[in-house]
Amino acid sequence: MRILIVEDEKTLAEVMSSSLKKEKYSVDMAFDGETGLDDALSGIYNLIILDIMLPFIDGIEILKQIRENKIDTKVIMLTAKSELEDKLNGLYSGADDYMTKPFHIEELIARVNVQLRKNEAQKVADEIEAYDLKLNVKKSELLCTTTNETIEVGYKEFLLLEYLMQNKNIIVSKEQIYDKVWGINNTSESNNLEAYLSFLRKKLKAIDSNVTIRAIRNLGYKLEEKQ
Ligand code: CA
Repeated sequence: MRILIVEDEKTLAEVMSSSLKKEKYSVDMAFDGETGLDDALSGIYNLIILDIMLPFIDGIEILKQIRENKIDTKVIMLTAKSELEDKLNGLYSGADDYMTKPFHIEELIARVNVQLRKNEAQKVADEIEAYDLKLNVKKSELLCTTTNETIEVGYKEFLLLEYLMQNKNIIVSKEQIYDKVWGINNTSESNNLEAYLSFLRKKLKAIDSNVTIRAIRNLGYKLEEKQ
């Protein structure tokens, strides 16, 4: 589960970040509204903790743009007492929860957990399907429905294949794949992408699937059926 904190008070951001990391969440931080908006629009976060008063672009505008871009990330707004009135004015519409500063960090963690559990309950799908492929989420097992052959996939292979299957017949860029599979601030492993794609192609072949991962020059990759 990946969380983005958009908060210009660095000390507060870092306190939140280290507490959330202890809860085994992956956390990224943005210290101004412009960076925060860019990160938020990547769509890779399960939850965003969003301060309202921020340099460059305020939290309410960021929230608006997240929703306009149909990103369904959970959002918890942080407000100062004086901004509470904004809630009554409906400016937080689209937020899932809000907290008034100052708050206890335990309270924030509890609310984050509630939001993310709700989110998981909504995503009960155990299987993702694309063409003749069925990916079993719990067992990390890939089934070809025409041959009935199965094969296990590793963790990164799973994330990569899941993303390609969710976007079947759509070109996804390398950057999108890096963000989704390795995380936005992590470039160390990302040049292994070719290797993981090659593992996946071998596995598709092994189960005799009609699905292929096509490299499209300068653009990215596409999961599609063989011609
Ligand atoms: Ca602030």
